[in-house]
Amino acid sequence: MNEEVNKLLDRQLSTWETARHSYEALSNVRIKELDVRGVPYKVQFNPARIVSSGAKVDARSIRERRCFLCAANRPTEQEGISFLGHYEVLVNPFPIFPRHLTVAETGHVPQRIASRFADMLELALRLTNFTVFYNGPRCGASAPDHAHFQAGSRGFMPIETDWRTRTVETVAQTDRAVLYCLDDAPRTTLVIDSDDADEACRLLRAVYQSLPVPDSDEEPMMNVLAFSETRRLTVFIFPRAKHRPACYTATGDARLLSSPASVDLGGVFITPVEEDFLKITADDVARILSEVCLSPEAFAQVKTRIRNEIRKP
Ligand SMILES: [Zn+2]
Repeated sequence: MNEEVNKLLDRQLSTWETARHSYEALSNVRIKELDVRGVPYKVQFNPARIVSSGAKVDARSIRERRCFLCAANRPTEQEGISFLGHYEVLVNPFPIFPRHLTVAETGHVPQRIASRFADMLELALRLTNFTVFYNGPRCGASAPDHAHFQAGSRGFMPIETDWRTRTVETVAQTDRAVLYCLDDAPRTTLVIDSDDADEACRLLRAVYQSLPVPDSDEEPMMNVLAFSETRRLTVFIFPRAKHRPACYTATGDARLLSSPASVDLGGVFITPVEEDFLKITADDVARILSEVCLSPEAFAQVKTRIRNEIRKP
């Protein structure tokens, strides 16, 4: 599937002007590196991402806009590759990664992950040059009304190479899969390491069952990343406590337009506003993470629930 996707990208960049321009612009984005309490992060100044970071995702705004993932509303130039018979792999016209895909369900159905764990892992097993990710409906998805994954060039996010040095605790273990938590506060990270997709799926489900569901929501707030190497899956789960940090709506100097999603939690913070890119510090990133991730107490409770969940027959 990598080959087919590479051809799609090449074709779209030659036939679709919007995509060509945005991928050209990506070569000019600025990056700075931050050390956030010993964990490496990058900050990317990416003005085009205002479409996502600034997206109004309240129910009314969503109802009143035309869904950009529905085939009927897509640009005529945008092509897709079928996946599992009910998804389409599309080139994302507002890239963060040198290669950035959106994998949209063919029908207009809400963003929910429970029935799609296996699909996500299958995608990660097939797209070996990519890291696949899921943003929950209130965790960075700009189309919370249309189920989709995204995928970006593998190896782009610091956590992909950094995580093995930070495993601090084995939370659960099955015959062929291990669930770790990382020592990377104030981020709260669970990692599944497995050479068996079914076992990885079982652990993913146990985590899902153990996370709190806010009253107004239909699923636990979470971001998920998954990639594979020689059929071995690595899955990161970032349980969330909050959609957007206080600085998102603050005024004056305190304002910082950051709407954290999978990529930010994977270690690449996106700032669509130049002033924010220039001023953001490691302390700002730590503060944002401590707001949107779980508190240490809530994380400890989740780990206990996961252990109980795994013991169930
Ligand atoms: Zn739609």
